Amino acid sequence: MALPSKRLSKSRMRSRAAHHALSKKVLSSCPNCSARKMPHLACPECGAVMKKPAKATKK
Ligand SMILES: [Zn+2]
Repeated sequence: MALPSKRLSKSRMRSRAAHHALSKKVLSSCPNCSARKMPHLACPECGAVMKKPAKATKK
């Protein structure tokens, strides 16, 4: 079975993990209520999508 043939040193493992940092979340402001929201998604505060009010959803 596929197994690593040699143990990796701490240094090798850590230098590989140096590229695994999470990137910061991108936030834009809502054009309707200027709350912070994810771009291309409906506003969690007012529900507006691209300046138009979103359709009512079942709850
Ligand atoms: Zn909004």
